[in-house]
Amino acid sequence: IRKLVVVLGDQLNQDSLVWQDFDAKQDAVWMAELPEESTHVKSHKQRTVLFLSAMRHFAEQLRQHAWSLHYLELGSHDFVSFELALKDFLSRHPVGSVELVLPGDYRVLQQIKLACQQTATPLNVLPDVHFIAEPGEFKTWLAGRKKPTMEYWYRHLRQRTGVLMDLTTGGKKPLGGKWNYDADNRQSFGKAGPQAVPEPVRFAPDQITQEVMAQVQTQFTNHPGQLDEFGWPVTRAQALQALDDFIANRLTKFGDYQDAMWSNQAWLYHSLLSVALNLKLLNPREVIAAAEQAYQQGRAPLNAVEGFIRQILGWREYVRGLYWSYMPDWLHMNALDAQQDLPGFYWTGDTEMACLKDSIGQVLEHGYGHHIQRLMVTGLFALLWQAKPEQVHHWYLAMYVDAVEWVELPNVLGMSQFADGGLMASKPYIASGQYINKMSGYCQHCPYSPKEATGQQACPFTTLYWGFIERHQEQFRGHPRLGMQVRHLDAMSDEKRQLIQQKIRQLRDITA
Ligand code: FAD
Ligand code: SF4
Repeated sequence: IRKLVVVLGDQLNQDSLVWQDFDAKQDAVWMAELPEESTHVKSHKQRTVLFLSAMRHFAEQLRQHAWSLHYLELGSHDFVSFELALKDFLSRHPVGSVELVLPGDYRVLQQIKLACQQTATPLNVLPDVHFIAEPGEFKTWLAGRKKPTMEYWYRHLRQRTGVLMDLTTGGKKPLGGKWNYDADNRQSFGKAGPQAVPEPVRFAPDQITQEVMAQVQTQFTNHPGQLDEFGWPVTRAQALQALDDFIANRLTKFGDYQDAMWSNQAWLYHSLLSVALNLKLLNPREVIAAAEQAYQQGRAPLNAVEGFIRQILGWREYVRGLYWSYMPDWLHMNALDAQQDLPGFYWTGDTEMACLKDSIGQVLEHGYGHHIQRLMVTGLFALLWQAKPEQVHHWYLAMYVDAVEWVELPNVLGMSQFADGGLMASKPYIASGQYINKMSGYCQHCPYSPKEATGQQACPFTTLYWGFIERHQEQFRGHPRLGMQVRHLDAMSDEKRQLIQQKIRQLRDITA
């Protein structure tokens, strides 16, 4: 074999650089389903099914080209990890070099490097053209900046690519005159709740997916999550259908209700495209172009289109840049010295707190939560609880179908848990139960009252919120936005402060 192309489960794009000078006569492809990818964090069953089914569908396409494909199916071999499986292959076959695109997980890259080193096989790691940032672009942008603010990175990429730029200004100014329409995008559903939200297209499991489901059910019986509702796209054709469906039916209201939540409403106006994007069944450029075109054709308003594009061109590219700039140091950061165990109900949804019960229940059912549930319900509670960042990171990596470390880790350790001490976010995203009450209908069906920090009905979020301010008061006293909360705490009576501490101790006793 002249060149062995290694294709990972989240690298299912036909425009990848590994195919550029692929010569079917001398080169071969290697793909492997390895138990460790589901067990190094105890993966949700749907997450494992998604990756394996999409890989098997992609392998079918490769076979149609009649390319030489070495594919290790789960259950048909005894290798646990990439390192062991690849090392075995390389020690049995003469291979000129191994080629792969930069993986989405630092750990996997290290394993592949080791397998190549141990067999003295040259390794060629290629840049990932799926991303819009060019190789080295983020590092150059980052250099010399005191703080890498997402908004400036986003503006930089908009100017460089011309996305949503006003051509009458020579592409220098943003379309509509503003970079950001966030102020229009914070609506809630009020008391009545969402009305007739269009159901997203879902994909019934075909034979390949059904086979994988049966295998996962047997091999990972005690893993979290259910499989009954599996409906994720596992091929490029399905991913394109999901994109069309979002643009036609939900994009118009994406902006307005971006931050809103409601019980038993898993999808609302979100795109559900992270899965297809992260597996590379969709290219972010085509997703952005489809949204921009909808605006140009008068099918969607600017606040929706800009809000949506910012998530992909801004946030998605930004977190990837940060991941590769700060790994592996990020893994060990714990700036707020959070030392509690993540409560067990994160794995079962067994809690009376309506917002957490719904958000976790939905993750168990679908492997999905939209951004505000991830940040301001499950993430917020873990932060206020002072859960160990590593445990929170493992939970998110295990439970969401779209979780790949490059995107999950900065969102969890940086944005949600402030474990990096402010590298990514300017302040911890903290709020009391009052925020959840404003943005959702959860509190209407909850035994707790979001206003109360003490007493029988005290909302645990509100109690823990004041506990958090008390614990970190000196650190945030001078902060332009959190300083105000510290002053509110200063104005609180000693008795109330003691009652809050007592309530926190009770919560910890009940939850332990
Ligand atoms: P939409 O709301 O429709 O957004 C459109 C697209 O924008 C998404 O598909 C996604 O590709 C991109 N996007 C939006 N926000 C972000 C963001 N903060 N970072 C990167 N891309 C973004 N996203 C993942 O893809 N995988 C994860 O494992 C993941 N873990 C997260 C953990 C936490 C604690 C938080 C706060 C966010 C996390 N996100 C993650 C980002 C975001 O929540 C999801 O991308 C989004 O909810 C996916 O659903 P959607 O496709 O319906 O998104
Ligand atoms: Fe969540 Fe508190 Fe509202 Fe209950 S009252 S749903 S725990 S925020």
